[in-house]
Amino acid sequence: MRASGLATFTLGGVHPPGRKESASGLAIEPMPPVSRYLVSLVQHCGAPAAPLVKKGDAVTEGQRIGSVDKGLGAHVHSPVSGKVAGLARTLHPVLGPVPAVAIERDPEAGPAIWTPRDWEHLPPAEILAAIREAGVVGMGGAGFPTHVKLSPPPELTVDTLILNGAECESYLAADHRLMLERAPGVVQGARVLLAVLGVPRCRIGVENNKKDAVEALRQAVSDAGEGARISVEPLVVKYPQGSEKQLIEALTGRRVPAGGLPAHVGCVVQNVGTAFAAYEAVALGRPCFERVLTVAGQGVARPANLLCKVGVCLSDIAEHLGGITEEAVKCVLGGPMMGFAVPGLEATVGKTTSGVLFLDAWESPDADFGPCIRCGRCLEACPMGLAPNEMSIYAERRKYEGTQRFGLWECFECGSCAFVCPAKRPLVQFIRASKARLRCGCKL
Ligand code: SF4
Ligand code: SF4
Repeated sequence: MRASGLATFTLGGVHPPGRKESASGLAIEPMPPVSRYLVSLVQHCGAPAAPLVKKGDAVTEGQRIGSVDKGLGAHVHSPVSGKVAGLARTLHPVLGPVPAVAIERDPEAGPAIWTPRDWEHLPPAEILAAIREAGVVGMGGAGFPTHVKLSPPPELTVDTLILNGAECESYLAADHRLMLERAPGVVQGARVLLAVLGVPRCRIGVENNKKDAVEALRQAVSDAGEGARISVEPLVVKYPQGSEKQLIEALTGRRVPAGGLPAHVGCVVQNVGTAFAAYEAVALGRPCFERVLTVAGQGVARPANLLCKVGVCLSDIAEHLGGITEEAVKCVLGGPMMGFAVPGLEATVGKTTSGVLFLDAWESPDADFGPCIRCGRCLEACPMGLAPNEMSIYAERRKYEGTQRFGLWECFECGSCAFVCPAKRPLVQFIRASKARLRCGCKL
């Protein structure tokens, strides 16, 4: 659908307050080194990485410390040079305590030096292997291993690579700053991914509240002489535009069938941060152990866009930014719609941490919810055409099986329904609970 010359998806969608002003104008700054890093072995979809180090081992920056050799997963690398303090646990926002490697940084160690690679003449399989070796995963939040996503089923024909620069969640500006400040790297990342996929076209979708990023990317595309293959396309500002299916429809008009993959409509979608990480992995030989994240919300003394290594504790970030305020009531990893609240600041940064939000009571109201008044607003808001009201009623009565009739497994938990519900029903929590109960075989 096009309005005012800009594309967007057709079904549902909402307009939460952007609240990006506090961070969108702030240049990326490096998070200073800390003394101890707690590096999760679960920074991706799939099985935990198996640790390759033990207490007392010396490690160097970029050394592989966790491996996934079979099945879905991604390797994990040390963010610093130092010594392994032990195998420990860190707090995953969904899974709870997960295995991790604790590393004490060697303050005397210099920065690692990477060896640039003339990747343009490499066969696609070798480029893909470099991405896998570097442990690159979907940096938009999903954490799907990139080398797997770049290997669509051979019976499906892919003709379009889509880079996701929508960043439609409130507060977050990490992708915005990356596109603005590292545009040539993002475009080189697109070229790397095009080479792996062997497809003729890349379309970069950016919501139109980031006009400077659109201009920076267009300039980088022009400088790279890639105008014929890569286009940068501004989109209407609408949530959840950054979701794969909605972005595909906005840019191409194609609709992924229920239960289908983007490749079923000829597309592969990667986040702009993932493209940048792929560029660093392939062109510079640099593993994925660092990312840009936004720290914002009324609960932190100073907002920032930090270039932050994995394994940094949230309490270290808060301290670096002047501490959290007395008003802070909640800490969320990711955006306010799809992110996850963490119970404590001992949680650590991972490859998928796009934001750390310290919210006050006004930003994160804790309202009691009431019965469904059948107003239908959630039906209008749902971008998948589902019936979250019905799902919530079944889940409330613990009739989890019944939720499946209303599209439970098509729901990607965007939160648009809950955002518009006048009864403040926790629709996403009902949906998540139903999925969890059904997955573990509990039908009552
Ligand atoms: S959370 Fe699920 S049901 Fe609710 S609007 Fe999003 S996709 Fe639809
Ligand atoms: S928006 Fe809330 S009250 Fe209205 S139909 Fe949906 S669940 Fe019921």
